[in-house]
Amino acid sequence: MNKEELLKIKKKALEEHIPIIMDDTLEVIAGILTKIKPLNILEIGAAVGYSAMCFSEYLQDGGRIDTIERDEERITQAKENFKKVGVEDKIKLYEGDAVEILPTLEGNYDVVFIDAAKGKYPFFLEQALRMLNDKGVIIADNVLYKGYVMSDYNKHKQRTAVRNLREYIARVNEDANLDTEILEVGDGLSISYKK
Ligand code: SAH
Ligand code: MG
Repeated sequence: MNKEELLKIKKKALEEHIPIIMDDTLEVIAGILTKIKPLNILEIGAAVGYSAMCFSEYLQDGGRIDTIERDEERITQAKENFKKVGVEDKIKLYEGDAVEILPTLEGNYDVVFIDAAKGKYPFFLEQALRMLNDKGVIIADNVLYKGYVMSDYNKHKQRTAVRNLREYIARVNEDANLDTEILEVGDGLSISYKK
């Protein structure tokens, strides 16, 4: 993989205010991936492909990432980026709304990374659980949403997202098949191991 290109892509994404994975969050996930050595990863929310490209370093030989993005401009950039970095053989980009695409997937995944519309997290969880291998892990970014999830007061604009993030956290905590921890890294990271 071309790390120099990856760094350029990161810099450009940050300049354009694209919400790519934060360094401390990536560090935690890299630790998990190093232990699991996943064969298949599913990512929901590719943006310009930065996190998927970072994760691709930790795949087993022959491993693959499926990632989903609905924004046309970001799709175009992600495809270019995969080529520039030389990871186009490892990452498959599904173009469109994850709400429509996920039910059509039948993969078995060792890791699912949820990083898209916060209001859809409970649905994404349902779909992730359907396709997760035993001993697999579901990681969700932004679950504490700038502190709104843990505070009483939320603006109207954030209310649906907050309600659904709280529902996500409740479901992963209540699921007897999952061992979950919520970390205050980045914008809040939920990590659920399937027993
Ligand atoms: N994982 C990326 C950042 C993703 S930002 C990284 O760390 O590099 C979240 C992305 O999810 C945005 O680009 C947004 O367009 C996309 N998204 C949000 N809701 C979606 C949906 N329902 N289906 C597909 N993509 C979605
Ligand atoms: Mg995120």
